[in-house]
Amino acid sequence: MERPRPVRDLSWPTEKARDLGARALSLWGDFLEKLPSLPVSRSWKGRDLARELELRIPDAPASLDDVMGTLKKLLFETSMYPGHPRFMAYVTGPGTIPGAIADLIAATLNANVGGYRLAPAATEMEQFLTRWFAQELFGLPTGAGGIMVSGGAMANFVALKAARDKTMGYHVREQGVAAPLADPSAAEGTDTIDHVAWYASAEVHAVVDRAADMLGLGSAIVRKIETDATGRMDIMKLRAAILQDLASGIRPVLAVGTAGTVATGAVDPLDEIADTCKLHNMWFHVDGAYGALAVLSPELRPLFRGIERADSIAFDPHKWLYTPHSGGCVVVRDLQRLADSFAVHATYVKDDKERTGNGIDQAMLGPQFSRGFQALKVYLSLLAHGKDAYACRIAQDCALARWLGHVVDAHPELEQGGEPGLSICCFRYVPVGTEHLTDREAYLDRLNEQIMNELQAGGRAFCSNAVLGGRFMLRACIVNYRTEAEDVEALATAVVDLGRKLDRENRQN
Ligand SMILES: *Cc1c(COP(=O)(O)O)cnc(C)c1O
Repeated sequence: MERPRPVRDLSWPTEKARDLGARALSLWGDFLEKLPSLPVSRSWKGRDLARELELRIPDAPASLDDVMGTLKKLLFETSMYPGHPRFMAYVTGPGTIPGAIADLIAATLNANVGGYRLAPAATEMEQFLTRWFAQELFGLPTGAGGIMVSGGAMANFVALKAARDKTMGYHVREQGVAAPLADPSAAEGTDTIDHVAWYASAEVHAVVDRAADMLGLGSAIVRKIETDATGRMDIMKLRAAILQDLASGIRPVLAVGTAGTVATGAVDPLDEIADTCKLHNMWFHVDGAYGALAVLSPELRPLFRGIERADSIAFDPHKWLYTPHSGGCVVVRDLQRLADSFAVHATYVKDDKERTGNGIDQAMLGPQFSRGFQALKVYLSLLAHGKDAYACRIAQDCALARWLGHVVDAHPELEQGGEPGLSICCFRYVPVGTEHLTDREAYLDRLNEQIMNELQAGGRAFCSNAVLGGRFMLRACIVNYRTEAEDVEALATAVVDLGRKLDRENRQN
């Protein structure tokens, strides 16, 4: 046969790579410079976005000018900006500057962080980082550690899988959840999936239900415990629910404490939940996807007392460490729990660790096999900014939510929906002269929803909503190091302007 000749179309000369890189970095600089003066978002109504993007797959290569044109269009014409100072919606961070560079370098190395021998330095960095989070930051004991995953949803899933297998018996991994469970206290074969229960507050994030579903347990296993007026789990109601289940022969196996609810930023009484878990030999999981990283701030840390007693914690660097999407993290009290729950044996990854000196293969600690180098953007951001800057900025986000509350209170047409929790402020527009409207509350719900939709399409500022006590509230959540007082004030002003306009239009008709 003929010896294959080189095919180098994909292997660009370094000069061409540098050219594209330099142009892209220059565009990146332009973007950072212009970001505050761009609209936060644009209206897509009536726009054929796919056509504007000129999406196509050519046979022949596009020119570098064309490639740059695509990036420019993406950056400046067809996107909305979670990194904009006036973006205050959901729990979505802006992305860090060192994190963006880290992603470029991570992609350059292209480490496959599933196996140690494919990614020795990346594995060491991820394991160092997750141990640091677990032990230094959250106060879990030696032996605690974890892995990085795509986000909070996956972090909760991984933790809850480890919990399922530990509390129901590791034979479930092979035999499934329909198999009789291994509970030493139950008569053999009598304890089945119908006889275990999880507990979480009524404000728990829907991903916990979905994890129960994905784990074959069904979301009905999650008992929803009522919250108090501030949105924290009512601990007396938790105890009562557990006793009631025990009385009907159901075994309580797990409780979730939410450290920062998405609606109002409430932190469950973690220490009390830990007491209850200890009493009944239950797994204590903390969903801290939004709030847990606030332990970095000495003033906020006391809110999280008891987090150090958790069996597992899910949290999101892409939220309150502001790092680029995506990157969540799960840590467990004993790293062995992840290996017990996820290790599998693939014949093609044989490795004599004694002989090679290789460290752990992180593919054995979670559901992914090939894994990206997500730890770099988190590590590099912490390195380049330092812990103190984070402590200070997280506290600032919370101060800004309180400042927005103050601005709202001072305005006759704005009404706050309870005290701000963490960095969330909920409020609504209430026009003057609506006191005697029939169906007033329903009208205010509709009006505020209209305000949110116009605000999101308009580009002056961007917030989302929460439903509190059945009422539609505008909700600003600040996990954004670019936001300052003038930005939250601009949000309030934009809401009042839109509220007046929409109320006039509504009530003319
Ligand atoms: C954001 C959030 C999640 C989901 O996390 P993702 O990173 O969006 O997957 C789960 N729980 C809470 C409390 C959250 O705030």
